[in-house]
Amino acid sequence: MALLEIKKAGDPVLKEICAPVEKIDKRLRNFLDDMAETMYASEGVGIAAPQVGKSIRACVVDVDKKNRYDLINPVITYREGLEVGEEGCLSCPDLFGDVERAQKIRVEYISRFNKKKTLEAEGLLARCIQHELDHLDGKLFIDIAQNITKGRKEKK
Ligand SMILES: [Zn+2]
Repeated sequence: MALLEIKKAGDPVLKEICAPVEKIDKRLRNFLDDMAETMYASEGVGIAAPQVGKSIRACVVDVDKKNRYDLINPVITYREGLEVGEEGCLSCPDLFGDVERAQKIRVEYISRFNKKKTLEAEGLLARCIQHELDHLDGKLFIDIAQNITKGRKEKK
């Protein structure tokens, strides 16, 4: 496994609409493992392929360091409720802001072993998945966030 270089806001790869993954093989699985390692090393809870320079529809999320999801060609097929919460991004170091997201979602994706899967998520996991899927469409949270600050806001 290897740490990958994280692309920062301003890099054109972060503005691209990513292409669907066509081949799920050992090479892709190694890439997903490298993405995960890079995410854990940076204390992130999610990472999308364009953030490490690859314009393909794949991301890795793990919000509790126990349940890692590798999402290939993910599509949100159901959304419920709205919730505002604080977000940050490995590509926007030290910036935090409030983003409105669906509270509950259903996402359909292909697993790293080429199986069709459905995941129902809510709260932080749902937020993280929505954030990562935005990356696959060339969107950054700083384009939609409110109250952007340098550094995490003080918790009351
Ligand atoms: Zn991000």
